[in-house]
Amino acid sequence: MKYDRILIRYGEISTKGRNRHIFVERLRKSIKLALSDFPGVKIESKRDRMYVVLNGEDFEKIIVRLKKIFGIQSFSPAVKADKDLEKMKDAALQLFKRVYQEGDTFKITAKRADKSYPLDTGELNQAFGAHILTHVPNLRVDVRNPDINLRIEVREEAAYLSCENIQGAGGLPVGSSGKAMLMLSGGIDSPVAGFYSMKRGMEIEGVHFYSPPFTSERSKQKVLDLAQKLAEVSGAFTLHIVPFTEIQQLIHKQVPENYTMTTTRRMMLKITDRIREKQRGLAIVTGESLGQVASQTLESMYAINDVTNTPILRPLITMDKTDIIKVAEQIGTHDISILPYEDCCTVFVPASPKTKPKKEKVQFYESFVDFEPLIEKAVAGVEAITLIPKQEKQNDTLEELF
Ligand code: ATP
Ligand code: MG
Repeated sequence: MKYDRILIRYGEISTKGRNRHIFVERLRKSIKLALSDFPGVKIESKRDRMYVVLNGEDFEKIIVRLKKIFGIQSFSPAVKADKDLEKMKDAALQLFKRVYQEGDTFKITAKRADKSYPLDTGELNQAFGAHILTHVPNLRVDVRNPDINLRIEVREEAAYLSCENIQGAGGLPVGSSGKAMLMLSGGIDSPVAGFYSMKRGMEIEGVHFYSPPFTSERSKQKVLDLAQKLAEVSGAFTLHIVPFTEIQQLIHKQVPENYTMTTTRRMMLKITDRIREKQRGLAIVTGESLGQVASQTLESMYAINDVTNTPILRPLITMDKTDIIKVAEQIGTHDISILPYEDCCTVFVPASPKTKPKKEKVQFYESFVDFEPLIEKAVAGVEAITLIPKQEKQNDTLEELF
């Protein structure tokens, strides 16, 4: 007996009412993309579940891929069987023997979706339980905490049998929640913020500010490497790289030193918002975590946020650094983030940035400077690069990533 399909349960998206078909379609696309190098695979979607029909493709490799896809609650490798009771029992026994190890306990969980089927749930449980017990010596039933839960589902078109229930990545299918711009630095936090946003179904594009020649090509490459990791999560990732040198120089010439950081962040946010508008995004995501540095106090956020009404999402706002680092390690961005290349904000960092800047003060300082022409120039000079997963995404040993 070989598994011939994988049954996919949607979990949360099944509660999305009338938009449900959009969610299901997105999930189907994500799965199709993730399994594009298995040409035999066919995806069948139904209202409340999906089947990945294997057609002889390697199910173990496919399972590793499925574990990373957002929008899947859980899944089970399964076999499709004829609804003839004897054939079903036979299939159940063979499947059971595949996973059974000496000493395992078991139970049967039958479900009758086809109400016209002559045996009801209780009778199905009985029939299959008895059949397995007769053929496997010394086997014990444990209905509370079995080692093996053999599920049998009798549906209209056929019966489906499975033994394993594998936890999925959860979340919502990528692209099902609209688009947002991620402010992506070379640091540890922003890639993690991007990951969490994708997990909740957002389509994410990155915006990175760099200041050549004060920041090097290598520091730009580092951000591209981080973007590459995010592309592997979502299937593709566009990064907008903004030349920021002239604006930073102007800030340093014109704004009192203890307010340069606040103005710098305001300009970054303003420019990100322009790019968002062009790209038809609906929100901006940052890697800020409350109190981590001077720019991340509530007072700073209040003064910086002043330049836009666009929702600013801060998925990490309540997280401790140690917990953020753990996630960065799991998603494979940590080791890139800790490379010591300079960032535009560290190059120009003031000796003592205000931790409690006043909105009125920063507005006042900025009122003497015409930033607009340079903002427009920076937006016009944006370089957009789209990254797609590399072949070695097919590195199926990276199972632990998620
Ligand atoms: P990170 O680890 O993400 O760099 P951080 O703890 O170093 O965060 P900051 O440097 O204050 O904190 O940055 C706060 C947020 O501002 C970042 O998470 C990111 O979203 C954004 N940001 C900072 N620098 C840049 C940059 N050069 N380009 C784009 N966004 C940036
Ligand atoms: Mg940083």
